[in-house]
Amino acid sequence: MSDCLFCKIIAGVIPSKKLFEDEEMLAFWDINPAAPVHFLVIPKKHIRNLMEMDSCDVALVGRLFHKAQEIAKEQGCEQKGGRFVVNAKIDGGQTVDHLHVHFLGGRSLGWPPG
Ligand code: AMP
Ligand code: ZN
Repeated sequence: MSDCLFCKIIAGVIPSKKLFEDEEMLAFWDINPAAPVHFLVIPKKHIRNLMEMDSCDVALVGRLFHKAQEIAKEQGCEQKGGRFVVNAKIDGGQTVDHLHVHFLGGRSLGWPPG
C-alpha cells in the first residue's frame, strides 16, 4: 500500500463520502469544506500533481474535469457556477500529493486567492 492518503481512500482503507466511482476515478466530498459545495475528483492512478503529469494522462485529466462539471450540475451549481481548482506543489498550497480537482460552489468566491 502506497503511503498516500488518497490512494488509501481509493483502496477503501480510509473512508470517504463518495459521489462517483468508476475504473479510473473517484469523486468524494472534501472533509474540510471551504464552500457549501466542495468535492474532489481524483484519478485512481497515482499522479503526484499537474506539474509532473505525463502527456499520456492528458485525456484522463480532461475526464476528471468533465466529471467535476457533471457533479457540480447535479449539486445545483450549473446556473451560478463555481471554481474548478488544482493546487500544485508548495506555492500552490498542495497538501495531498495525489492529483485532485477541487470544485467549490454554492457561494460567491473571491479573486485573487490569498
Ligand atoms: P490540497 O490542499 O489542494 O492538496 O487539497 C487537499 C484537500 O483534501 C483539502 O481540501 C482537504 O480538506 C482534503 N482532505 C484531506 N483529507 C481528506 C479526507 N480524508 N477526506 C476528504 N478530503 C480530505
Ligand atoms: Zn496516491
